[in-house]
Amino acid sequence: MVTAHRLRKSLPTADRVIVFDQAPTHTFSPSLPWVMTGTRRAQQVTRPLEALREQGITIVPSIIDAIDPRERTVRAAGETWRGDALVIALGAALSARDVPGLEEGGDNIYTLDGATSAFSHLQSLQHGRVVVLISRAPFKCPAAPYEAALLVDGYLRKTRRREAIQVEMWAAESAPMGVAGPDVSGSVVDSLTERDIAYHPDESVTRVDAAARVLHFSSGRTAAYDLLLYVPPHRAPQVVADAGLAPRDGWVAVNRQTLETAHPNVFAIGDVTSIPLVLGKPLPKAGVFAHAQGDVVAEIIANRLQGKPETATFDGHGECFIEMGAGRAGFARGNFYAEPRPTVRVFRPGRHWHAAKVAFERHWLSQWR
Ligand SMILES: Cc1cc2nc3c(=O)[nH]c(=O)nc-3n(C[C@H](O)[C@H](O)[C@H](O)COP(=O)(O)OP(=O)(O)OC[C@H]3O[C@@H](n4cnc5c(N)ncnc54)[C@H](O)[C@@H]3O)c2cc1C
Repeated sequence: MVTAHRLRKSLPTADRVIVFDQAPTHTFSPSLPWVMTGTRRAQQVTRPLEALREQGITIVPSIIDAIDPRERTVRAAGETWRGDALVIALGAALSARDVPGLEEGGDNIYTLDGATSAFSHLQSLQHGRVVVLISRAPFKCPAAPYEAALLVDGYLRKTRRREAIQVEMWAAESAPMGVAGPDVSGSVVDSLTERDIAYHPDESVTRVDAAARVLHFSSGRTAAYDLLLYVPPHRAPQVVADAGLAPRDGWVAVNRQTLETAHPNVFAIGDVTSIPLVLGKPLPKAGVFAHAQGDVVAEIIANRLQGKPETATFDGHGECFIEMGAGRAGFARGNFYAEPRPTVRVFRPGRHWHAAKVAFERHWLSQWR
C-alpha cells in the first residue's frame, strides 16, 4: 500500500500502478493486541483495499498463483500481468499446521479472527492458566507476544481475576527482542517479572495435546494451560518459494540498501525478506521496516523509470512501541544496520508512549479510508 501510494504520486498518470492482494481488507496489525484485550473491535482496525482505487491505483483482488521473476510477471485472476518493475510484499505465511495440535489447541493471536476469539475466551475464563506461546523464530514484530502477555495481565487485573489466573510465556527464543540488544531484552524481562508473568525462554514446542490442554517441548518439558494464545510458525508464502525466490533460509534475499533481488527491477520488501546483520541474526520482521522499505523502493522505481538519478536507500533505522497495560507503553528506537551490533536507545515507559501509539494508529488508518 505504501509503495503503490507513493508510486502513484511520483509517476505520470499514463503509468499504471497495480496492487494484487488476496485479502479485501488491510488490518493494522499493531492494534491486534488491543483487539485481544477488548479495547478495539475488528472493524475499527481494518480498512478496505478498495480505498486505493480512489487514488488511481488498480486493485486486482485475487490470489497470485505464480511469479516469474525473470519475466517480471505474475499470474492472477486467470491472467498473466507483466510489469516494468515488480515489488514482492507478500509477507510471511502463518503456518500453525507445522506444529501438530497447535491450531486446535488455542487462539492464533497474529490474526484478526484469532485475536477476536482470544478476547471472548479471556472474558469467560475465571481461573487457571493463560499461556502465551512463541512457537518458532523468526516471527514478525518481536515485541508483539510480550505486549500480549503484559496486556493480558493488565486486563485480568482490571477485571479482578488476576489472582485466580496465572500468566506464563514459553518462547522459542533465548531473550525478548534479542536483536535490539541486552538493554531492551532486560527491560522486557523485568516488566514480565514485576507483573508475576513466568518466562520460559529457549523452549521449542513440538506438539500440542489439545484435548488434555498440554504443550510438549523439545526439551522434554510440558506445560498445562487453560487458554493458549499462540504465535504460529512463519514461512515464506508458497508462491514465493515456487518462484525460486526463497532458496536458502526460506526467505527472499535482497540488496540491503535498495531491496532489489538478484533479478533486475524485481524488489522485495517487508516480512518476506531476510536481511542478514553482522551479529549473525536477520533484521527483525516489522512493519516499521516494511514501511520505510516501501518508500525507498517506490522512489527508486519512479526515478529509474523516468531516467532520474537513484539516491534513495534503506538505512536500517526503526522504532517500536511496547504496550505494557494500564495505559502505559515503552519505546525503543535505533539503527539496526549499525555494526558490530544495532545501536538501540530504550526510553522509559510511560503514558505518553501509549498515547503516541494511539496517535500513530489513528494517523495510519485515516490514510486508507
Ligand atoms: C500482532 C501483531 C502486532 C504487530 N505490531 C507491530 C508494531 O507495533 N510495529 C511494527 O513495526 N510491526 C508490527 N507488526 C508487524 C507488521 O504487521 C508486519 O511486519 C508488516 O505488516 C509486514 O508488512 P508486509 O507488507 O511485509 O506483509 P503483510 O502486512 O503481511 O502483507 C502481505 C500481504 O500479502 C498478501 N498475500 C500473501 N500471499 C498472497 C498471494 N499468494 N496472493 C495474493 N496476496 C497475497 C496478504 O493478503 C497481505 O495483504 C505486528 C504484527 C502482528 C501480527
